[in-house]
Amino acid sequence: MTQTQTSSATTQPTAAFDALIVGAGFGGMYALHRFRQLGISVRAVEAGDGVGGTWYWNRYPGARVDVESMTYSFSFSPELEQDWSWSKFYASQEELLIYANHVADRFDLRKDIQFETRVTSARYDEATRRWLIGTDRGDLYSVKYFITAAGCLSATNVPDFKGLESFQGDWYHTSQWPKAGVDLTGKRVGIIGTGSTGIQSIPVIAEQADYLYVFQRTANFSLPSDDSPMDPVREAEWKAKYREHRAAQLVSRAGADVGSIPDRSALDVSPEERDEVYEHFYRQGGFALLQSFNDLGTNLEANETAAEFVRNKIRAIVKDQEVAELLAPKDHPIGTKRICMDTHYYGTYNRDNIKLVDVKTNPIVEITPTGLRTTAGEYEFDVLVLATGFDAMTGPLLRMNIVGKDGIELKDQWAAGPKTYLGLTVAGFPNMFTITGPGSPSVLAVMTVAVEQHVDWIADAISHLEDQELAQMEPSEQAQEAWVEHVNEVADMTLFRHANSWYLGANIEGKARVFMPYIGGFGYYKEKCDEVAAHGYEGFVLSK
Ligand code: NAP
Repeated sequence: MTQTQTSSATTQPTAAFDALIVGAGFGGMYALHRFRQLGISVRAVEAGDGVGGTWYWNRYPGARVDVESMTYSFSFSPELEQDWSWSKFYASQEELLIYANHVADRFDLRKDIQFETRVTSARYDEATRRWLIGTDRGDLYSVKYFITAAGCLSATNVPDFKGLESFQGDWYHTSQWPKAGVDLTGKRVGIIGTGSTGIQSIPVIAEQADYLYVFQRTANFSLPSDDSPMDPVREAEWKAKYREHRAAQLVSRAGADVGSIPDRSALDVSPEERDEVYEHFYRQGGFALLQSFNDLGTNLEANETAAEFVRNKIRAIVKDQEVAELLAPKDHPIGTKRICMDTHYYGTYNRDNIKLVDVKTNPIVEITPTGLRTTAGEYEFDVLVLATGFDAMTGPLLRMNIVGKDGIELKDQWAAGPKTYLGLTVAGFPNMFTITGPGSPSVLAVMTVAVEQHVDWIADAISHLEDQELAQMEPSEQAQEAWVEHVNEVADMTLFRHANSWYLGANIEGKARVFMPYIGGFGYYKEKCDEVAAHGYEGFVLSK
């Protein structure tokens, strides 16, 4: 077990650890806590000046989790589960950040996290069988295990808008929102983007700003999320039965204990009964509607009934029917892009200080010093908000410039799309572990559940290597190919390829179109990971 300070010459390592974790979001925090228990030396590096990852960066108005708070929390400490109380069914970004800080204090994590440090390079040195990790602060760490916990949605996408640098007002990407907040009182605001982020922030911005222009290229389906305070009865029930709920999460499709799975098709019931069922689940809020029937994710005709139900909701809420039609998505099946969760989103368009601008029909030509010009007209505003999303899943990894064996760069290896074994490891990149990497359920599962499962699996793998005095672990090309094939096979059984989504890399120009997360179900996936470990790390090459 090494932890040594070494030379500070630029080509020589400045320090050595057994493991280095990139990121101090929920994944990195738990990894740090868990790996310490293995008795190895471990350091985490984090670009921000605090913990919390997604909830540290995304401070935009209205930011909130779209999974019930009781579910979206760590399960590794029963004491933490019992002590912590969420104030709302769906926690706000502020509360989630307080929770992350509480966890960091409670488990004394900060002393092993190097903040305000970004990893800029990572190279596997075959001679020493160690990774050399460079940072923007001049560190060069030598480590045996390189663990990425850099998140799936952390590489900001700022589209290459002509004229952006000429804008004389202030502009902000929602994922880099200033800590001090932005006072939009009395301001004219323009927002580009109507994904989950835009949809959460638009109602809040419209309330504060003098006037709001929403530039929409693609309409998204959004469902109401419950903004009510936590029900003490529900909280008590969860706390009394936390172990049962957690066990149910681990065998579920998406890491959430959602009760029974429907066993009938949307096409097996009359239109009246179908709408009653949809109404029931719609009122529950959140993702419930998508679980009304068993074929909404696989049968276009069935899916269309749910899509039309939601479109009709939009038509009923939005008074101006031209605006309602623009807001009603018609270019993708419901649920094939990440469903959005909102609070009064559609109703916001009934205000008299908001205008929806269709930039699909009339695309944005350029940002001007005073606003924005489309092919149809010019719009003036003081503040520009970019809710334009992320280079998802692969972006955070590729931005680190990772080089594996034989000098192979990850970006070249993944030029035609990411290839991993179990979304945890990559052939040619020994001892590199990717928490919630592409090819794992990741963004299709409750994130806290997904990161805990990955960290536990990696911790067991490291233990195994240390106990057996093994130097490295790497998946075989064959095992990786078989996994990639399976990931694609299950994706092809769904309707997901019918949407131009970030799941497929379609939001980034030039990015390979490959369905990146694993959609075969979290429960099945966990079973597969456990099986691989139980069979002596089947599919891996372990060497002395
Ligand atoms: P997103 O879903 O990728 O949405 C980006 C938006 O920006 C889209 O409407 C996109 O339009 C638009 N856009 C991008 N480039 C553009 C351009 N050049 N011109 C015009 N419009 C442009 O990103 P996001 O809203 O940040 O959400 C990303 C993911 O983060 C979500 O899907 C979700 O998984 C997660 N998230 C979760 C929560 C939550 O838990 N509550 C909240 C926020 C985000 P097109 O669709 O036409 O490309």
